[in-house]
Amino acid sequence: MARARKSCGKRTAARPRGTALTRRLPEYEAKRDFAVTPEPAPGKAAPHPKPTFVVHKHDATRLHYDVRLEIDGALASWSVPKGPSYDPAVKRLAIQTEDHPLEYGSFEGRIPDGEYGAGDSLIWDRGTYDTIPPGQASAQRKKGHLHVELRGEKLKGRWHLIRTRPAGGKPRWLMFKSKDELADPSYDVV
Ligand code: MN
Repeated sequence: MARARKSCGKRTAARPRGTALTRRLPEYEAKRDFAVTPEPAPGKAAPHPKPTFVVHKHDATRLHYDVRLEIDGALASWSVPKGPSYDPAVKRLAIQTEDHPLEYGSFEGRIPDGEYGAGDSLIWDRGTYDTIPPGQASAQRKKGHLHVELRGEKLKGRWHLIRTRPAGGKPRWLMFKSKDELADPSYDVV
């Protein structure tokens, strides 16, 4: 059932002009000291006409893959410990993490020891994507079922991301390949 949009009639004091964007991604910003980490602070990057995705291979405490889809002017992000699989029968845990700024789409570097996510983060794949049907990313994310067609170098074709029941803590999703013509249980992409 569609939920009615909340009105924002309770705003009491006008915010000074120009300050609205200073904490665009509060969770992302709160975890980082931009004087120390080379990661980008949220900037003025505009959404791309064709939504983009990027996957970082992140050699942190534990090696994992960060799958990021451009949604609503930011990069919605999931940490996928084992990385994506082309086998539709293999459902990979994808732990939802904080939205990252669009600028993160071109970030690569070493996050210093002692900082959040310390370790090397390299771009493992990137490209454009759309939902099936097109243009539904925001609605599909809210619903907890993204069905996307990725057009990357390594990741191609259709994938599902489905939110499972949260058992406390960060929302968990499962990422798995659609049974499309590119599905291939014998191919190990990671
Ligand atoms: Mn990570």
